Amino acid sequence: MKKIMNNPKTLRILIIAAVVLVVAFAFIWEYLYAGSGYNAGPRKTGQQQGSAVENDHAPPPGRSKIQDALSDLDWVQQAFLPINDFSRPDKPVEKVNAIVIHYIGNPGTTARQNRNYFANLENTQETSVSSNFIIGLDGEILQCVPVDEVAYASNHRNGDTISIELCHLDETGEFSAETYESAVRLTAWLCRQYGLAEDGIIRHYDVSGKMCPKHFVENESAWEAFKDDVAKAAAEHR
Ligand SMILES: [Zn+2]
Repeated sequence: MKKIMNNPKTLRILIIAAVVLVVAFAFIWEYLYAGSGYNAGPRKTGQQQGSAVENDHAPPPGRSKIQDALSDLDWVQQAFLPINDFSRPDKPVEKVNAIVIHYIGNPGTTARQNRNYFANLENTQETSVSSNFIIGLDGEILQCVPVDEVAYASNHRNGDTISIELCHLDETGEFSAETYESAVRLTAWLCRQYGLAEDGIIRHYDVSGKMCPKHFVENESAWEAFKDDVAKAAAEHR
């Protein structure tokens, strides 16, 4: 051994071999464990490209055509929740019969904050609540639960509807122009995909009588205008 160590050439080869082994082992470890299972958490990569970091929780491609189409849209951010009993129970939605519109009920909070709250229910276990989509104050659209999976938003209609939560600045529950526009765009897109007409757009209020979304319950004309805007947007892209 001493003889080998004394030979600079052999020593160099040994060091290179050791480095190669360590690097190879690190790659194998990363491949086997880093992205597997929902307990692994967001993958920590030096360079975060778009929403790729959260794609650990993305549904498998090919399971749902409409979800695959959604995943291709550059105006919808993938921010999928980890599968857990409190916000993403991994139950299938067989048929979508309606889109349910909600307001977040927590003035001034962002889409990202609400998404993280849903995700963290896995740990806090304080309640069961979530939404397929959240639209933020600046009109950003975050998808939290795939469209072919149940989200906990609309009581007994969770199994045959898609939920959209809208953020709002104050207690009135009125939506910013940006939030409103994105809600129209996303709802119209979903209506086209699922072949839904205006009666397929409902409020949480229509499901359970809850004052949600507040502005659209208190202002029936604003709700009717929203549905008309969705119908118009849907027709334009047909
Ligand atoms: Zn609601």
